[in-house]
Amino acid sequence: MPLACGLCDKQAILKRPKTGDALCKECFFLAFEEEVHQTITDASLFIKGETVAIGASGGKDSTVLAYVMKILNERYDYNLNLVLLSIDEGITGYRDDSLESVKRNEIQYGLPLKIVSYEELYGWTMDAIVKQIGLKNNCTFCGVFRRQALDRGALMLKVDKIVTGHNADDVAETVIMNVLRGDIGRLRRCTAITTGTDGALPRCKPFKYTYEKEIVMYAYFRKLDYFSTECIYSPNAYRGFARAYIKDLEKIRPSAIIDIIHSGESLSVKKEVKMPVQGVCVRCGYISSNTVCKACIMLEGLNKGLPRLGIGKTHKERLKMAEQIGEKEDSSINSQNLKSCVSDHFRPKSNSTSFEKNQLDSFWVQISQSGQSCCKSNTVGCSCQRSVVCKDVTAGIQSSVEQQKINSSVIDF
Ligand code: SF4
Ligand code: ZN
Repeated sequence: MPLACGLCDKQAILKRPKTGDALCKECFFLAFEEEVHQTITDASLFIKGETVAIGASGGKDSTVLAYVMKILNERYDYNLNLVLLSIDEGITGYRDDSLESVKRNEIQYGLPLKIVSYEELYGWTMDAIVKQIGLKNNCTFCGVFRRQALDRGALMLKVDKIVTGHNADDVAETVIMNVLRGDIGRLRRCTAITTGTDGALPRCKPFKYTYEKEIVMYAYFRKLDYFSTECIYSPNAYRGFARAYIKDLEKIRPSAIIDIIHSGESLSVKKEVKMPVQGVCVRCGYISSNTVCKACIMLEGLNKGLPRLGIGKTHKERLKMAEQIGEKEDSSINSQNLKSCVSDHFRPKSNSTSFEKNQLDSFWVQISQSGQSCCKSNTVGCSCQRSVVCKDVTAGIQSSVEQQKINSSVIDF
C-alpha cells in the first residue's frame, strides 16, 4: 500500500534523510525551504537592503543555494540584492565546464554574475600550479587562493556579505578534521554560521544544518541545472577519510551529523589556550593571523620555484618561511628593485606635479648613497612602514609635498 505524505494526504515519494519523514514532493520542497528560512532568521543572517554575493561554483550545493535564496528573498521580502560570484581556478575540463552551468543559472535565476580567476589575481592557474607541484598538496594551494579570491571578488562587487553552500555534512567533517588535527583555533570557529565579522567580509552558511543528501534530492526533484563531475585534481585524502567516516555514521544514525555540529557549537576552550589573533597581511592587506598570509607565502614560493614554502603546518614554520622570503629578497636586492620598492611608497600619479616626481628622485639618490635597505618586500603598493627607509621615504616625501602645498597655497592666498 502506498505511503501517505506525513503533512498532506498525497502519496509520499521520498523519505527525508534527516528526519525519516515520508513526504510528497511539494511538502519536501516546503519543509526544505522553511528550514533554511528558519536558520536565516534564527541567526539574523541578513539586514534588509544588503547586497549579498552567492559563492557559485556550478555544483549542487551552490546551485540549490542560489535557487533557494532567490525564492526566500521574494517569499519573505528579505529585500536583498543578490549576485552570483564565481571563482575560476583554471582547471581545464572541470571548472570551465562547471562555469557554463553558472552562466546558465545567471539567466535562469535572473541574477547578475561576476567571475574572477586565479590567473588574473595571482598570475597562476591551477593547471599551471599542478604542473609545478604535482598532485600532492594542490588542494591546499587551491583552498587558500579560493578563500582570498572570494573576498577579493566580493570587494570588487562592493557586497555586504558572502553566502556559501557549505552544508551540515561539510561542517561536521570540518569539526572531525579539526579534532583529529588538534586545531583548537579552527575547531572553535568552524561551527560558526557567520565568520569574518572581525574585519574581513562576513561569510554565512545558510545550509549549516542542511543535509547533503537532501540538497541532492532537492536539486533532483526541482530539476535544477548543475554540474556534478568531481574535480580532476581531487585527491584531498584527509577530508576524504573524514567524509567517509561521517557517511558511515550517518548510515547507522542519521542524527550523527547534527549531533557533531552541536558538539562543536557547545565546545568551550580553556582561557589558558592561546588562540590565533586575526590581523592583516602586511603584503596584501587581507585577513591573516600571521605577518604574511598563507596566500602570499604560497604565491611567493610558486614565483620563486620553491612551491613547498607555503605548505608548513605550524605558525612557527610559517614564520620561518616568511623570514626566508625576506632573506632571499635581501640577498637579491639591487639598486633597481630598491628603486622600484621606494617608488611604490609614493607612486607618482598621472596628475603628480613635477615637484613630487623630483622629490622621489632626490630621495632615491639619498637612499642609494646611504647604503640602507628597504623593507625587502618589493611589493607593488607597499606601505608597510617597517624599515627605517620605508618610514623615512614615506614621511619625507609626504612632508615635502605637504610643505610645497602649504607654500603654494600661501602664495595663492
Ligand atoms: Fe581545488 Fe582541490 Fe577542489 Fe580541485 S578538489 S577545486 S584542486 S580544492
Ligand atoms: Zn597576504
